[in-house]
Amino acid sequence: MGNRSDGRVRSEGTAFWRPPLDLQQIPKIQGHVVVDVDLCKGCGYCIEFCPAGVLATSPKRNRKGYHPPEVLHPEKCTGCGFCQRVCPDFAITVQKEIVEVRA
Ligand code: SF4
Ligand code: SF4
Repeated sequence: MGNRSDGRVRSEGTAFWRPPLDLQQIPKIQGHVVVDVDLCKGCGYCIEFCPAGVLATSPKRNRKGYHPPEVLHPEKCTGCGFCQRVCPDFAITVQKEIVEVRA
């Protein structure tokens, strides 16, 4: 976390006008994305909606001939679940793991 020149506080890519008051009580979550590649139709919604830039289009094709997403930056996944929610074909599952509890 660091302060920007405009006084806002930056935390892991997100700018706040102040840190959340309960920041120390919020556990740090690591998300794990599982893609069922053969359900994918290559629409790219999951890639577009991921706020952390975790996903990218795979150069490989699935059984239907589409390019599914691949997990390019797994360490950046916050487990927000946007990709799972926007997938029209239920091809994505997100699992959350608590990796740090700030006391
Ligand atoms: S769970 Fe959130 S951060 Fe992780 S890949 Fe999906 S949209 Fe991106
Ligand atoms: S949103 Fe679903 S169907 Fe579309 S590219 Fe992503 S995994 Fe494939």
